Amino acid sequence: MAYPIFPSVNPAFHNVGNYSDNIYCIMETQTDETTSCKGEYSLKIGFSIEPAAPVEDSIPVPPVRNEPVRSLVRVRFEADRRVLTYYNDRFNLAPGDRVFVSGKLAGCPGTVESVTTRFKINLADYEKVIHRASAELHGTYERVLDKMVSYDQAAMRPEAFRTWAAPPKADDAEFVLGEGYTLDPETMGSDDEINPAVLQRAFDYCRQGNVAYISVLNGLGTAFVNGTKWYEVNFRLDGSVLTEMYCVCPYPGLCKHLLAVSVTLQTLMQAGLNTARDFVVIDDSYFWLLAAKSTSRITL
Ligand SMILES: [Zn+2]
Repeated sequence: MAYPIFPSVNPAFHNVGNYSDNIYCIMETQTDETTSCKGEYSLKIGFSIEPAAPVEDSIPVPPVRNEPVRSLVRVRFEADRRVLTYYNDRFNLAPGDRVFVSGKLAGCPGTVESVTTRFKINLADYEKVIHRASAELHGTYERVLDKMVSYDQAAMRPEAFRTWAAPPKADDAEFVLGEGYTLDPETMGSDDEINPAVLQRAFDYCRQGNVAYISVLNGLGTAFVNGTKWYEVNFRLDGSVLTEMYCVCPYPGLCKHLLAVSVTLQTLMQAGLNTARDFVVIDDSYFWLLAAKSTSRITL
């Protein structure tokens, strides 16, 4: 039984390339030969992907500031598009950084819109920025339907994508596993355990690109599905059958996250995904977001 995924490719993303964070502001002394007037300064702002040239000993080097600068940051949340202000004393944040916060929107990734260091606040009135995400893409990718696929071991391991999708788990978090679900594509449509309405939601998730990431390394699978929150799905892949499937969402049964991962993998396999090798699958839109943030070389 085939479940088609309709590509949700946004052509605008294709012009977003990899860029480097190595951007330098260069100040130069210039001599005006026509007037022999030395010492005039002009500010020249350049963008370079090369490291800055070594500075001679005689030129004083300003101290590098590593300690975080206290700031108030406005954060936009992708879940409900709200923009809220948070206090930050842990990171040197800049617009575009992906962060997680304390309070009601804990667990929802947000993007820093603006940062100010000029403020006076009552600390009790503000929730805090608690985590800054960092995720890097590596290796060679190819397109399969609406996903980017890599067979490189280090392309993007699940622990790397996890920092991007969810805040670190609390130290006292304790998970207990039951039996887990098994989904066989051959019999999936006839399984009594599957609620048709939930399956329909899973198809919607596949169509909309909510299955953002799937990796299978040594038979162990990890997926991240973006819904009202991000949910992590764990499984084993045995041929085309998914076993020991788990999701931590509160739905009491085969949830849309498990079904969406199964349907996505089945569709990708039919389109040529080679599951005999370790692989990483990243949804097209998330891939280009990550690529724009990544400082590593990516091959397509
Ligand atoms: Zn779930």
